[in-house]
Amino acid sequence: RLRQRLAGSGTLGRGLLGLLSRDRLDEDTWEAIEDLLIGADIGVEPTQQLVEKLRTRMRVEGGDTPDAREVLREELVALVDPGLDRSLHISGTEGVPGVVLVVGVNGTGKTTTVGKLARILVAENRTALLGAADTFRAAATEQLATWGERVGVEVVRGPEGGDPASVAFEAVKQGIDQGVDTVVVDTAGRLQNKQGLMDELGKVKRVIEKQTPVTEVLLVLDATTGQNGLIQAKVFSEVVDVTGIALTKLDGSAKGGIVVAVQRQLGVPVKLVGLGEGPDDLAPFDVGAFVDALLS
Ligand code: GDP
Repeated sequence: RLRQRLAGSGTLGRGLLGLLSRDRLDEDTWEAIEDLLIGADIGVEPTQQLVEKLRTRMRVEGGDTPDAREVLREELVALVDPGLDRSLHISGTEGVPGVVLVVGVNGTGKTTTVGKLARILVAENRTALLGAADTFRAAATEQLATWGERVGVEVVRGPEGGDPASVAFEAVKQGIDQGVDTVVVDTAGRLQNKQGLMDELGKVKRVIEKQTPVTEVLLVLDATTGQNGLIQAKVFSEVVDVTGIALTKLDGSAKGGIVVAVQRQLGVPVKLVGLGEGPDDLAPFDVGAFVDALLS
């Protein structure tokens, strides 16, 4: 499924394979390979490391010519998966709900991701509750309420313009009272100054943790925004302890390499990928499927 959805991925894969399969891998060829990788948003340093590895492995020494596709696949998997734990921490301990805090810049797909995540939880026969703590964007609460109806999960909401922390507190309180498995809290993503963001998200997290630990902090990042989105995401990772990335709009991006860049620069694994606007368009990140899509 990932294979079909990754826009333009074939271009990168075909381009790389075409170059690597040349009879003679001269300097111009290696430069062209480097350009392709950098153009896919993998980042300069990882690109250079990858090219170094490919150079070594593609060297023909006496025996058979190495299989370009096999070598490329192995090296891409190693690059995308430096042994990170991609499990989602959605469970609490001893009958207490797990709490997933979803953060990120407005427009990245935060609310949509919360809705789709609720769908996944329901599909896994878990009980869930959503908290609409993005009280600054008028439409956000409505949007989440619509998602709640769509996937059959209750949404705890507060007054428009109300205190996000009090909505978050209330959602978790009700989640504990009802004994649900997971509470997912949507938050506001105004890109105000760092201090303001820190105060706001810090308070949301603190009031939740007066009741029970936050088990997962998911940072939502829009794959189509490239390096610029990454800089904004970094600000969030500096104000809360992010434990996983939800990379959205991968269906609309030809730059899947952002996965590599984001994991390296933020030091956290991509755990979920958004592959469309529908309720079933969120999936656990599958490294093998992703690399196959790049090479398809
Ligand atoms: P928020 O402001 O971060 O809460 O963003 P929204 O959840 O409102 O999403 C912004 C827009 O991105 C909406 O039109 C969503 O349908 C769209 N969107 C979210 N995730 C994806 C995705 O994975 N793929 C695509 N194509 N669109 C997405």
